[in-house]
Amino acid sequence: MSGTGVPPAALPVIPLREIAPWAVFASLLALLAVWFVGAEQGAVAMIDGNAIHEFVHDARHLLGFPCH
Ligand SMILES: [Zn+2]
Repeated sequence: MSGTGVPPAALPVIPLREIAPWAVFASLLALLAVWFVGAEQGAVAMIDGNAIHEFVHDARHLLGFPCH
């Protein structure tokens, strides 16, 4: 039994040095998203009005942040 004769696909190897800046960038974007979902309301809001609050309202309830 030698399989189908198709050579196995080579997995790409990404060095940690190359992926680390992107991981940091993605983490910062994720933290910003959590900020808008969890804290962009009331006294700590950075943006006036309810636009951001209403836009992320369902996500706030889904994640269990206190809301109303
Ligand atoms: Zn709510």
